[in-house]
Amino acid sequence: MKVLVSPYIGFCYGVKKAIDTLLSSFCPGKTATFGPLIHNPQVVSKLEKMGIRVVNSLSELKEGDTLVIPAQGPKSWVLEEALKKGIQVMDLTCPELKKTREMISRSILEGYQVLFLGDRGHSEVESLLSYFPSVRLVSPGETPRVPPGARVALFSQSTQDQFVLEKLADFLKSSGVSELQVFNTICRATRERQAALREILSQVEGLVVVGGKNSANTRRLASISQKLGKKTWQVEVKEELKREDFEGLSAIGVVSGASTPSETVEEVVRFLRSL
Ligand code: SF4
Repeated sequence: MKVLVSPYIGFCYGVKKAIDTLLSSFCPGKTATFGPLIHNPQVVSKLEKMGIRVVNSLSELKEGDTLVIPAQGPKSWVLEEALKKGIQVMDLTCPELKKTREMISRSILEGYQVLFLGDRGHSEVESLLSYFPSVRLVSPGETPRVPPGARVALFSQSTQDQFVLEKLADFLKSSGVSELQVFNTICRATRERQAALREILSQVEGLVVVGGKNSANTRRLASISQKLGKKTWQVEVKEELKREDFEGLSAIGVVSGASTPSETVEEVVRFLRSL
């Protein structure tokens, strides 16, 4: 069986930067992340073994502790509240998301009605909405009504499907808005991974996506593959794969989410190549 592996596996730039920074400066027992640092349970559990806790409330920390803001960004009030309580803050928000925040802020000041394509409940989306209550969230596949003559600025969660954003932009263009600005804030890492995925899918019968079950960008890769009618397996570790599932297949692809360590992907690839 031929195994085609995406050239974009392992941590994306934002996740790598967050992990490297944390590992170079944490203090066991006194450093805690606000929610999981990244959406990969295996990595989070390794960090916990090193003495880096996950907390869900500032009340779980005491003065002098360090609160780590994960790559997906904080709620707007967290930094100020933490500093008031004497808690130090290590802000590891991905620079791509900080840039998006600045751009949205500018569009609001310029009087645009801002629409944001994203998954309700995802930590990146919740962070962004907490900064800008006037921003209207549009779920993937939704066709929002906007008043005729409105000036609209459209942004996207960093890990959305490029095609879904384009479809939404086309819908808005034809819906009578007087002006539409489209900011493609899907990050480069996501765009590269999705483009490589589509290229691989044209050459294989099935796809293995390696990454956290709670990772939005990993699930998105799996859902693109399913929509294109390919047999798809989303796994966190190679032990979830069964030899018999691949019987009769001549070519399989392997891609990974942005928060999956490259060693985990390599283990999956070794397993598939051994079949
Ligand atoms: S997926 Fe993109 S936005 Fe998210 S952490 Fe990685 S580089 Fe940053």
